[in-house]
Amino acid sequence: MGFFEGKVAVVTGAARGIGQAIAVDLAERGADVALCDLQKEWLDETVAAVEAKGRKALAVAVDVGDGDAVNACIKEVLGIFGKIDIMVNNAGITKDTLLMRMSEQDWDDVLRVNLKGTFLFSRAVARPMMKQRSGSIVNIASVIGLIGNAGQANYAASKAGVIALTKSTAKELAPRGVRANSIAPGFISSKMTDALSQEVRDKMMANIPVARFGGPEDIAKAVAFLASDEAAYVTGQCLSVNGGMVM
Ligand code: NAD
Repeated sequence: MGFFEGKVAVVTGAARGIGQAIAVDLAERGADVALCDLQKEWLDETVAAVEAKGRKALAVAVDVGDGDAVNACIKEVLGIFGKIDIMVNNAGITKDTLLMRMSEQDWDDVLRVNLKGTFLFSRAVARPMMKQRSGSIVNIASVIGLIGNAGQANYAASKAGVIALTKSTAKELAPRGVRANSIAPGFISSKMTDALSQEVRDKMMANIPVARFGGPEDIAKAVAFLASDEAAYVTGQCLSVNGGMVM
């Protein structure tokens, strides 16, 4: 028996990569999971994987940057599952280029998905979680939000924003029994990072003391801890999961 037996989780960006691993891991530990991504069909694989764990899966097509769609999504999840115990804001994008070449569109797009999306879902679950006097919000930030990176001004700003948003959320909701934490992954193998050249990968590896890239499951395990009662006294924190890349 997992420690999320009878719990309901919502995971954004659940179609692939880290979001998919988080959703399947939560199901493995006993949670029913609402899976959110831009298109419903993209979620078929994750739905099947959650159901294979013997849990219920609900696929919802939602653009995390669209407030009306986010509110409708949470309403649908509450209508079907009756409550939300765990909210994982994972959906994220990059539009990398040097600052002097970065268009306003590149800036707006990344801030809209990564930061506004996290705000919209946090706002939407705040009321139901506060009413039930329990809940855990886990926001996926990035090591880049802690240290910055050339070519990622928009992404770094969005992820630093996620870390600060999480702290404010934690302070506001703590009196009602709701916790909020963020995770700052380092280099995690995924479609987002597969696109990098071998040269960049070698350079990054040289800076990782444990001498391997992380896997999506490394992030999923950290989410499970922060979402669980094992972390009952942990709120407002940013947990680095990066193989020692940044200390
Ligand atoms: P990914 O690109 O493989 O998956 C992201 C998912 O989010 C996709 O399924 C995509 O369809 C979905 N998505 C994108 N925009 C959306 C929107 N507007 N509405 C709903 N869904 C949307 O990425 P990943 O590597 O699995 O990264 C997941 C999260 O982890 C992101 O927030 C990313 O910034 C963060 N992260 C990743 C790494 C890494 O090394 N891979 C490192 C640090 C942080």
